[in-house]
Amino acid sequence: VQAVFRSNLSHLLELMGSGKESLIFMKKRTKRLTAQWALAAQRLARKLGDIRRDQKQILVHIGFLTEESGDVFSPRVLKGGPLGEMVQWADILAALYVLGHSLRVTVSLKELQSNLGVPPGRGSCPLTMPLPFDLIYTDYHGLQQMKQHMGLSFKKYRCRIRVIDTFGTEPAYNHEEYATLHGYRTNWGYWNLNPKQFMTMFPHTPDNSFMGFVSEELNETEKQLIKGGKASNMAVVYGKEASIWKLQGKEKFLGILSKYMEVHGTVYYESQRPPEVPAFVKNHGLLPQPEFQQLLRKAKLFIGFGFPYEGPAPLEAIANGCVFLQSRFSPPHSSLNHEFFRGKPTSREVFSQHPYAENFIGKPHVWTVDYNNSEEFEAAIKAIMRTQDFCTAPGPAPPGTPQSPFVVAPNATHLEWAQNASVAPGAWPPTHSLRAWLAAPGRACTEACLAHGLVCEPAFFPFLNGRDAFRKLQVPCDSTESEMNHLYPAFAQPGQECYLQKEPLLFSCAGSSTKYHRLCPCRDFRKGQVALCQGCL
Ligand code: UDP
Repeated sequence: VQAVFRSNLSHLLELMGSGKESLIFMKKRTKRLTAQWALAAQRLARKLGDIRRDQKQILVHIGFLTEESGDVFSPRVLKGGPLGEMVQWADILAALYVLGHSLRVTVSLKELQSNLGVPPGRGSCPLTMPLPFDLIYTDYHGLQQMKQHMGLSFKKYRCRIRVIDTFGTEPAYNHEEYATLHGYRTNWGYWNLNPKQFMTMFPHTPDNSFMGFVSEELNETEKQLIKGGKASNMAVVYGKEASIWKLQGKEKFLGILSKYMEVHGTVYYESQRPPEVPAFVKNHGLLPQPEFQQLLRKAKLFIGFGFPYEGPAPLEAIANGCVFLQSRFSPPHSSLNHEFFRGKPTSREVFSQHPYAENFIGKPHVWTVDYNNSEEFEAAIKAIMRTQDFCTAPGPAPPGTPQSPFVVAPNATHLEWAQNASVAPGAWPPTHSLRAWLAAPGRACTEACLAHGLVCEPAFFPFLNGRDAFRKLQVPCDSTESEMNHLYPAFAQPGQECYLQKEPLLFSCAGSSTKYHRLCPCRDFRKGQVALCQGCL
């Protein structure tokens, strides 16, 4: 069956079910963005012409919303709990639906079992059964449930699984044997999937797929309206939970901030003002998403206190013409020193509250400063207040690129990327975009590429995994060995030894050691759309 673009999302809203606050939040979002999705679908349909696309049967099993894994999120939707995941799931559903695929959505174990064809009353099916889906989108909770209930089919069909994974899973933690031998085992498991099957909220490590979410764009009229209506002295604080105001040392920078600006918050409260929030703050309480965005349209500054990490809100703030100011972390936060990241299958070091905003958007939209340094902080506030209103992306974007500096926008480019990702893994990106670099000792490929204004592209590792590649980079190898190590291919200076990667599942952009110069496959990227290289579509 051929996939046909859809622009009416009402059937999707039915498919999403009802009852839970989380589903209500997601459906409101989908409904609100309908017109933009429809427009994106039209644009892509025009661009693709009559290219034939197969309709896929897709199961979307949102594990963290099932009662069986506790569903701690739904009851907190109206109480300041995390919403980023729901934003992302809503957008994934909409993208797949608009592309014309056939969807099933499940948020309970029972529904999952009945869709997989597990006979009622049976814990799992011991024999392999035919799987009625081409693709299954789920998360770590759902993965565990599927493993328990699919019997042997789980292994047989695991290539069809896509795991929505907020934090990312680095190859060293994914490979069971390697993780076990080298201390990379975590409670999230070592699933031996292809690292690209893990799909992240932001491009933490390009070893995983960067799924992203939709950041809304303003049309020209809205941009003009916003320009006139900004209060240059209005700041909104990032965070819905009162606990972010407990931060140590906040008096100092909050004192400076309040000297210059009127401070607004959207902190959830029950009946009285949360005691953590100082009296001078104008707290609006938790707002419905569109009202929160309206508030951002009036403000000049969106300021982060260090938590939550890497949510959608800063991108929405920038889209609505705010500057995002955030703290630099020194030393960086990671699974070694911060409770939040402990046990997560990643060694990533987080150098600011929102590394994506810092690295891929930057000034003038994003300022990352040391909050302990009062002079630096005060200078940033003053400079930000002086800046012109800019509700648009810096400079005119070339035709065909997203209009704003955001992750994934509901436009043709994103849909096209989603299309690519689900249709032709491996054949993309084209090899002409490969740029190889030898990293300094102690440097991961993610950093080495970024330092050259590029991103690491793991699909290109096989091209660097041979003597030829070393020769081309003029690396003198006295000897060459092939071993299982997530840092290989690499070069070790003393001894002039070159190491090749023996296990393709361990090719990894992430990871470093002072012992090695890593061989890094980099590629260019589109500003605001790092999932794509410049000449890739
Ligand atoms: N948001 C909201 N009301 C508010 C503040 C935020 O609906 O008062 C929304 C915001 O639009 C964003 C979502 O909450 O899309 C998630 O934002 P955040 O960056 O805080 O990530 P989280 O920590 O919730 O995952």
